Parts: sequence; C-alpha cells; structure tokens
Amino acid sequence: MINYPLHFDSCPNCGHKDTIIAEEVQLEKDAGRLSKRANIPIMQTRTAIFDQSRRSILAIRSLAPAIIVSYDVCSKCGTIYAIEIVKGQVELQARGLPPTNNKIPPFGG
Ligand SMILES: [Zn+2]
Repeated sequence: MINYPLHFDSCPNCGHKDTIIAEEVQLEKDAGRLSKRANIPIMQTRTAIFDQSRRSILAIRSLAPAIIVSYDVCSKCGTIYAIEIVKGQVELQARGLPPTNNKIPPFGG
C-alpha cells in the first residue's frame, strides 16, 4: 500500500536539493515577471489505469484512476527525477481509439 502523495526533495544520484525548473521559476517570481501564484507547466506524466484492450467500449470522457508524476532536473548533475507522485483521475480521450469496425473484446478478457 502506497501512501500518496509522495515527495522527493533531493536528487537520487547526488543528493543535491536544488532543481532547474524550481530555481528558474523562483528567479522569475523574485524578479516580478511571474505572479507568486503562477501555475507553471512542469514535466509530467499521467498514466491512466485502465484496460487498453477495452478502450473502444469505455465512454469517451469517462474518468480513470491515474498516477501523475511530476519531474524536475537536478541543477548539479542533470538527473531527471520524480519530485512528486500523486494518485488522481484522468479523462479518457478519443485520441488513439482503434477503428470502430474492430471486434469489441468481451468483458473479463
Ligand atoms: Zn544530482
């Protein structure tokens, strides 16, 4: 059992705590070029937990549980690592749907 959210505050490679994106965002905020509450698009992966083979029978825009991982880059050694991992939900998109004349697989595989 994993207790989300997970936070990692130092580089797993060298132990350094500063990261490129967080530092640059802070510099822009300190310079007044970004609002203190600006929403920054950070590197992120969103992995929906659902059965890909049943995608054609799942309603578009239905919600699936998802693991959302945010990454930053160590400013000392360049290692990209997860800084935050949360469990959430994502909306299933039409993109990547198989052709509609595909046979729909039965429930349960
Ligand atoms: Zn590092």
